[in-house]
Parts: sequence; structure tokens; C-alpha cells
Amino acid sequence: MEFDLIGRIRQRTDTPRDDVITGIGDDAAVVAVPAGRQLAVAIDTLVEGIHFPVGTSPADIGWKALAVNLSDLAAMGATPAWALLALSVPAGDAAFFDGLADGFAQLAASYRLSLIGGDTTRGPLTVSVAVHGFVAPGEALLRSGARVGDVVMVTGTLGDAAAGLRCLDEPDITPYAALIERLNRPVPRVSAGQALRGIATACIDVSDGLLADLAHICTASGVGADIDAPMLPRSSALLSHFDEAVTLEFALSGGDDYELCFTVPADQAAEVSADLATLGCGATRIGRIVEGQGVRVLNADGQVLQPSRDGWDHFAS
Ligand code: ADP
Ligand code: MG
Repeated sequence: MEFDLIGRIRQRTDTPRDDVITGIGDDAAVVAVPAGRQLAVAIDTLVEGIHFPVGTSPADIGWKALAVNLSDLAAMGATPAWALLALSVPAGDAAFFDGLADGFAQLAASYRLSLIGGDTTRGPLTVSVAVHGFVAPGEALLRSGARVGDVVMVTGTLGDAAAGLRCLDEPDITPYAALIERLNRPVPRVSAGQALRGIATACIDVSDGLLADLAHICTASGVGADIDAPMLPRSSALLSHFDEAVTLEFALSGGDDYELCFTVPADQAAEVSADLATLGCGATRIGRIVEGQGVRVLNADGQVLQPSRDGWDHFAS
């Protein structure tokens, strides 16, 4: 791909760091991992029409491609440092590259994250970002440490991004800006993840929907989980624009939330809530780890709700 397009990306994402020995421009980047740190590494690919709607602005695509990866580092409790960006684009117009790089850079700046390289090719619109972060040995938050009696908590609110997507998909729904913002510009819970190091027994980011992602914690930890449906944190934007039953469906299964779902020993839940409140996202206790396997959803009376073809509505209270 023409070098001047890569040059534009470089110019717009330039974040100097002492640990980047050689960044964009050579055959490979050279970086220095700080002494006494392990690397946490993740990669996620966004495909137009699958991971973001056709018509999403280049800046939103750039932001989201980085955000979903930083969310994976957040779920490990890692401190972000470097990223690689692989682009497949149908046409190489400068405005697209500039917009994408600007959206990426806006989020990267919050973490002093440096874009150190990538790849650019012609093809269907696809954006891959790989991120690298630091953790102290043994401190990474894994999925496997949940224990019976732990409480299940989640940062922020659930279901907003799914509601935003619904707004875009259905022309007769007013496109509520706050919900679409959650879809296009997810804010990864990086500082929350760092604050949970040494406290959370297990952690995952919610990308595929709370039920699916919490099920991964259960499988990895060899436990089950009971979720109290009425406790699921939902934003006022969501609650004021959709029926209660729909908000429940979005919160449980919508996905694209990029909140952290984690477990902590019961006696630490209050302190964790207070700590994360000071970080702005807050954390809500939504259930508990139990013996067995899989995730159960309970109503206010403690009865198990079953998913149906119509969602969870018949059973919600
Ligand atoms: P090579 O053929 O040696 O892989 P490229 O022409 O693909 O070189 O890339 C040249 C330089 O630009 C490399 O340092 C590469 O990491 C960087 N680069 C290419 N595409 C991107 C991109 N989309 N974002 C950031 N850096 C990129
Ligand atoms: Mg290359």
C-alpha cells in the first residue's frame, strides 16, 4: 500500500514512549519489556457488516477496533502499552485513513498507548488490532479462579450497545444518541481491571453478552452462577426507551457491552463497589457463584427464568 497512507496513520497516532526502540517504518517494531513484567497480548478483528454496521464512521471504527482489544487487556488487569493495526480496505482514500487513525488515536491517548506497526492491504473492510500490555508475574486476572460463595459483579451498565444496534436496525425506532454512542464508542474498563488485581478471583469482559461470557468463567472455574435479574444494571437511557422485558434481554444476551464481569469473595464486594465508584464506572453485585455448572437467571422471587423464543419477558418480574 502507498507509503503516504501509512505515513498519515503514523503522524496521527504518534505517541512517543521510552520503551519503543523502533516503531512504524522498519520491517518490525522493536520494544523493551520492563524488567519484572509479563506481557499480556490480545488480538481482535472487526469486519464491516458483522462487528460494526455498514455506514459506521471511520473514526468510530478506529475507536472501536482499539476499544475491544483494550477491553481484553482490562479483563486481564493489564496496563496497555503497544498496538499493531492491520487494515484491509476496499479503496485507499486519505479521508478514510485519517478518520480511522484519529478515532484510534483519541482512545490511545488516554493510555499513552503507542501504535508501533501494522499492515495495510486492499480487500473487504476489516480492521484487526493487536495489543500488548504489562502485568506483574502471577497478577493477571484469569477466568479460572471463581469459587463457590463468591459474588458476581459487573461494571457500568449492560444492554446499551444492543439497544443502540436495534435503533439503527429498525427505522421506526428513534436513534437514541446515548445508546448508539455505547455501540460505536465503547469505553474499555482498563482502570477498573487494574484495580481488581489481587482482589477479583475471576474476570472476563462482556463482549458476547453477559450470559455467554459469565458461562466462560463458570466453565473455566468448574462452578455455576446464579444471576438475580432485577439486579442487572441498566442505564436510564435504556430503561426510558425500551420495555423492561426488552432491557432484560439486551442486558443478558445483547453483547458489545465491554463491561467487566468478575467474581470476588463476598466480604470484599462492598469495598470493590466503593473503589470502582471512584473510577467512574461503578460495579453492581448481580449474583453469586454456586456449586454445579452453567448460569441460571432468577427473578425477584428467586425462581429460575427460562429463555423462550420471545426472550425472557414471560418470566420477568
Ligand atoms: P513490509 O512490507 O516490510 O511488511 P509495509 O509496507 O507493510 O512493510 O509496512 C511498512 C511499515 O509501516 C512497517 O513498519 C509497518 O509496521 C507499518 N505499517 C503498515 N501498515 C500499517 C498500519 N495500518 N498501521 C500502522 N503501521 C503500519
Ligand atoms: Mg507488511
